[in-house]
Amino acid sequence: MNLKNILRELKEKGLFRRIKNIERISGKYIYEGGRRYLDFSSSNYLGYRDSEWMKKVVVDAVKKYGMGSGASRLVVGTADVYEELEEFLANRKKQEKALLFNSGYDANIGIISTLYGRGDVIYCDKLNHASIYDGIKMSGAEMVRYIHNDMEDLEKKIIKTRKGYERALIVVDSVFSMEGDRAPLRSLVELKERYNIELMVDEAHGGGVLGRSGMGASEEAGVLEKVDINMGTFSKAYGSQGAYVASSEEVIDYLINRCRSLIYTTSLPPAVIACNLEAMKRSENDSENRERLARLSDYLRKELGRLGIETLLSETNIIPIVVGDNEETVRLSEELKEAGIMIPAIRKPTVTTPRLRASLSANHSIEDIDKLVENIGRLKNL
Ligand code: PMP
Repeated sequence: MNLKNILRELKEKGLFRRIKNIERISGKYIYEGGRRYLDFSSSNYLGYRDSEWMKKVVVDAVKKYGMGSGASRLVVGTADVYEELEEFLANRKKQEKALLFNSGYDANIGIISTLYGRGDVIYCDKLNHASIYDGIKMSGAEMVRYIHNDMEDLEKKIIKTRKGYERALIVVDSVFSMEGDRAPLRSLVELKERYNIELMVDEAHGGGVLGRSGMGASEEAGVLEKVDINMGTFSKAYGSQGAYVASSEEVIDYLINRCRSLIYTTSLPPAVIACNLEAMKRSENDSENRERLARLSDYLRKELGRLGIETLLSETNIIPIVVGDNEETVRLSEELKEAGIMIPAIRKPTVTTPRLRASLSANHSIEDIDKLVENIGRLKNL
């Protein structure tokens, strides 16, 4: 492997990535290079990230606990807030027990690679998040990919392969991070019951946004108890950091004993856990912001539709906006930045159809969305 050559090639193909410097994100704005931009790039769906109550929770918690957690939970133990949040999660997710992780990435690689291995089979939606793919690769289990949300394709593949393996798992994003559509959870439950398969759902983008009390697409579909492994993050709607898994006592105890991305890492600061707990509690009753987000998302899709712009499969606040090939999409993202709007271009090979990816938050207003649509229309001469 020649690093120099690979980097040169990336530059030649226009695929070289840099991390840009920003001054700060505040509410719906990003400040960069002395300018203010309307932010359609971060995942602060309910607007909690820099709310006054969130700041107070973190400051109070730091006063009480200090900053770092000290060590791995298995070495140093657990402050009361961790346990409180895990009990809260287990209860609301209708599972026996829950366990916290430092990030969604850590959770997915850890859960999947610890619970499954050689001799098992994992059915994976093609559009699942990279952390799920990495977990499957690390597990050593056989990966069977199926066409995105295509239950016929999945069942065909299950019939062909299930018998050859000991344990089987179907794993899906509950809301797909690039398309903004939902997984068909009721159909997945039917399949898992018919073929003796376990079901793992990643609620990273469903949590806080979907379901009567914000428990995600599994709550919305009425299948919370049917999901075997319910995973999610605090890094999107909850405006914080970290992740969880809720499952049976057996699964959680096994993870505590074997999961390397839990055991061999210092746990998140207690102040972060305190924020996560408060954010989850608030979001339970925050149907006002959930409904606002759904209304804003419908409005953006409708307005783009009026201009003849496609939003692919989107049905949530994640909205792909198809504006052309890789180059055109990147150019439009840059031109929108000139106009004071920050919206990322997602290109091949990350996705098959290049798009601008809008992620809306309850902080946005109808006027903000009008500004985005007007500028896209102007720049595309529509
Ligand atoms: N799962 C999904 C579906 C995601 O979109 C993400 C983050 N983009 C993750 C997991 C990883 O979560 P985190 O950012 O907390 O590591």
